[in-house]
Parts: sequence; structure tokens; C-alpha cells
Amino acid sequence: DRLISATLKDEDAEAENSLRPRRLSEYIGQNKVKETIDIFIRAARERDEALDHVLLFGPPGLGKTTLANIIANELGVSIKITSGPAVERPGDLAAILTNLGPGDVLFIDEIHRLNRSVEEILYPAMEDYALDIIIGKGPGARSIRLELPRFTLIGATTRAGLLTSPLRDRFGVISRLDYYRLEDLVEIINRASDILKVRTDNAGAREIARRSRGTPRVANRLLKRVRDYAQIKADGVIDARVAAEALHFFEVDALGLDKTDQRLLLAIIEKFNGGPVGLDTISAAVGEEADTIEDVYEPYLMQLGLLTRTPRGRIATAMAYRHLDIPGPEKD
Ligand code: ADP
Repeated sequence: DRLISATLKDEDAEAENSLRPRRLSEYIGQNKVKETIDIFIRAARERDEALDHVLLFGPPGLGKTTLANIIANELGVSIKITSGPAVERPGDLAAILTNLGPGDVLFIDEIHRLNRSVEEILYPAMEDYALDIIIGKGPGARSIRLELPRFTLIGATTRAGLLTSPLRDRFGVISRLDYYRLEDLVEIINRASDILKVRTDNAGAREIARRSRGTPRVANRLLKRVRDYAQIKADGVIDARVAAEALHFFEVDALGLDKTDQRLLLAIIEKFNGGPVGLDTISAAVGEEADTIEDVYEPYLMQLGLLTRTPRGRIATAMAYRHLDIPGPEKD
């Protein structure tokens, strides 16, 4: 169970509710995405129409669910939230769709995990706002078409490439969320400190931000842990020293790596001579699922320049050796 995991944990639930921005103006960073969404929202409102379907992609914890809620809020409509694995049968999706009101938002997280038969219901729903239902079996079977209200589908996924192309093609707006810049994370931590009534000075916020893996969810979680530490060990005030000390105590290093990241890099370096080594081999060596490695660990390690992907496999960079304090590979 990793402190710096970007996926949602139970401990986040309560805080996420209080910390989640409600308006576009409170949504920090991601300026390009924000501007795009802002234009589409205004245009839809002016024309009094439902917003075009929106696909949001990017690593977990970057604010996709938050943005979907904000969009519904700004449009003044209701939002219904579900996820790809939760919708098992076509009938489940039909029930959700027929309960939507005009202009409502349907948010499907992990939309790439919808199964084929469910996904096929979505095509006419997205394109023609209609449901085709087969009644009966065999020669007597017939299809009836149910009209749906105009609604907005917001899909979220880690990588756009995971979607089938017929599904991807039906989104009018496709936006990619990137890891947050340090300054944005500092702002997010300052905002969260205000809401949680924690005293964090700017250097303290920076120290936490540097180790937050570019991810607001991680930033908020680290802030809460450091708050506890500061309360017991340092009069409750979070400055740079307290933040660094606390995060060292929680085994999050200066770049935001924890033991699992380090194990992954160490395995490549020590067992496979720095690589190249295939994803499945790494997965077996460190005992983590290949998908998780690819979606969660690797993007951040690559962003830091500690790991590169080549057609022949993963390679630990010279920077990884330096970071782990291991002498570099011998050149032949
Ligand atoms: P995702 O759906 O991409 O996994 P979430 O939308 O659940 O991520 O975001 C996780 C948490 O991070 C939210 O509860 C919120 O507190 C915080 N957060 C995300 N994006 C922002 C942002 N742009 N500004 C401030 N806080 C944010």
C-alpha cells in the first residue's frame, strides 16, 4: 500500500470531497485544457445546447473526475458517475442512459474497460441520442429505437490509445492532462492548507510539491501525512525542514520515489544490467502487474528521466544510477 500511489485510496475519500475545486476558476494549472473547456462550455450555454462529448486522458490523480464535476456544475446540470468495469451488461448502461435529464453529464471513468457489447450501445447513444433495443428472440425478434435526451458523455482514461477507434471518434473534445508544474502544485498545497487549516509556509509547500509526482492527489495526501507529523513533532507548522524530515520518515525520497519505484529501478540495474529488459520480465521480478507498472510507475520515472522505453525494452538511465548512488554501467 503505497503512500505516493496516484490511485484513489479510502483515506482520500473524505478529503477529496472538501478539497475538490467546484468551479473552473478554482481549478489550478492545466491552462490549455481549462481554456478549451471554458470555450466549449460558454458556446454550449449560449446556444442552449448540450456540450459535445469530452474525452479526458492522463495518469490517475490529475483531476479528471474533478473536471467532469466542474463541467456539470458550470453547465448547471446533474452528473451521473460510473466506471467502465461497473457497467457489466448492455442493460445496465441502458438504465443509466434512460434516467438522464436533458443536458445532463454522464461521467464514465476508465471508459476503456467497457466491454464490447456495452460499448456498442454507446455508439448510437452518443451520435443520435438513441438506444436500439432488441425485443424477443429468433425470427420474431424486432428492434425498437428509444429516444434519449441530449446529454454529454465525459469519458476518462489513462491513455487515449486504449480506446477503440469507433469510440474515440465519437468524442468532439479530446483533452490530455499532464503532470502539474511545481508552481501549480505549490498553489494546490497552499489552497489545501487553507481548507484543512494547516499552517504551511511557502518553502514547506515547495518541499511537499517536489515530492508529489506532479499529481494533486499525491500532493494532498502527503500534505495530510506531513500535517500529522508536524502536529506531533513540530508545533504543527510545516516549513521546509519539517516537510523534508516527515517525508524522509515516510520513505518518500527527494524526487518523490518510494521503495517500490526504487525496487523497480534497482531490479533493472542489478538483475538486468541496466536493461533493455521487457515489461513482463520486470513485472515478474518486482511482483507488480505489468499494467500498473506501465500506467502508474513508468510515466513518472520517464518524466523524471530515470527510465527510457525502447523497442527492445526498458533502460535505466545514467541519472537513475546517480539517483540511487550506484556506479554507472561499464561501457564496452
Ligand atoms: P482523477 O479522476 O484524474 O484520478 P481526481 O479528479 O479524482 O483525479 O483528483 C484527485 C484530487 O486532486 C481531487 O480530489 C482534488 O482535490 C485534487 N485536484 C485535482 N486536480 C486539481 C486542480 N486542478 N486543482 C486543485 N486540486 C486538484
